[in-house]
Amino acid sequence: MRGKLKVYTGPMFAGKTSAMVQELEKYDEFVAFKPDMDDRYSEEEIITHNGHEIPANSVPTDKIFFIVESINYEKVSAVGFDEAQFFDESLLDAVDYVLEENTDVLVSGLDLDFRRENFGYVSKLIKKSDVCKKLLARCEVCGGDAEYTQRIINGEPASYDDPVVLIGAEEKYEPRCDNHHVLRDGTGSSYEEVLSDIG
Ligand SMILES: [Zn+2]
Repeated sequence: MRGKLKVYTGPMFAGKTSAMVQELEKYDEFVAFKPDMDDRYSEEEIITHNGHEIPANSVPTDKIFFIVESINYEKVSAVGFDEAQFFDESLLDAVDYVLEENTDVLVSGLDLDFRRENFGYVSKLIKKSDVCKKLLARCEVCGGDAEYTQRIINGEPASYDDPVVLIGAEEKYEPRCDNHHVLRDGTGSSYEEVLSDIG
């Protein structure tokens, strides 16, 4: 018997982690992992945006396979991965390993980056999933369904080529719908059109 793969995906602020945590808590025993680069809240817990917390291990993004090999599958009935977009390709083998142990895998992560391109290996996991929930957020401009993440640097939409880490820039992310997601260099919706909508 093979475990089931359940993926919770969508843009930022869509409640992906909360949805995964809610499902994880239905299992008697579970372990959860998150990339150790994610220092938004604490080292030891996944804390969802609604304040709920579960224990999670911060692990190096390229060591996840070795770590899942050491789990005691007699006891554990589910394994969760949060912020899955930041793990490297070894996540795919790690997920397969856990499923082969007849243990369910729950994954929470962004399917697309701010350029609307595949983020890490989440889209590959979506293709292999038994259950996939694509969650939507609320567009910051019009309040409609948002499936994209808008990156804003110093108050302006980011360009396609802007580096992922910008020293000294004021940066934020917002959920946006198809009409209001924009890149400054013109890909996606027209930049001027979006600016006039925002007012
Ligand atoms: Zn919108």
